[in-house]
Amino acid sequence: MNAITSVVGLKKKRQFTEEIIGEEPLNLPPQSFLTKSLWFDLPQKAIDKIVRTRLDLRGGLHACEHAVIGILPLFALCDRNDIGGISTSFHPDTGKAQIFIYDAYPGGIGIAEKGFNLVEELWRATLALVEGCPCRDGCPGCIQSPKCGNNNYPLDKEAALILLRGLVGLCLN
Ligand SMILES: [Zn+2]
Repeated sequence: MNAITSVVGLKKKRQFTEEIIGEEPLNLPPQSFLTKSLWFDLPQKAIDKIVRTRLDLRGGLHACEHAVIGILPLFALCDRNDIGGISTSFHPDTGKAQIFIYDAYPGGIGIAEKGFNLVEELWRATLALVEGCPCRDGCPGCIQSPKCGNNNYPLDKEAALILLRGLVGLCLN
């Protein structure tokens, strides 16, 4: 895949508390590179349930993407900063909702490939993480990402759980 990243600004955070003490916009040209990506479909039953229960599908996909990126380093022995992700409720090339997980280095360094080979295990471990996290709406331990380009918006933990349960084949009724 062709990944495009852009640095849009920087935030100054207080050490340890993560409190934001300053923000500066930057105007840098986007960087584009070819890399390897893992991508997967989401079960239609899970999507239907999210729509039916009026949860946020985009938030669920985004949260699921973050959680997978948080877990993948355990399998691929890398840092989460080595991994990028994109999620969309409608991808023009496939005509459906999609989650992409890609190597954040030109040409790829084998992370997406590793994830692909272990994808069912990856989904199960991600579900266990999100399900087991005691927070209500998502926290840095489960679905929030420290390097999200969209300020961790939108995120929907409940919708992410439905998607992950669907992915591992659990009954969704
Ligand atoms: Zn949490």
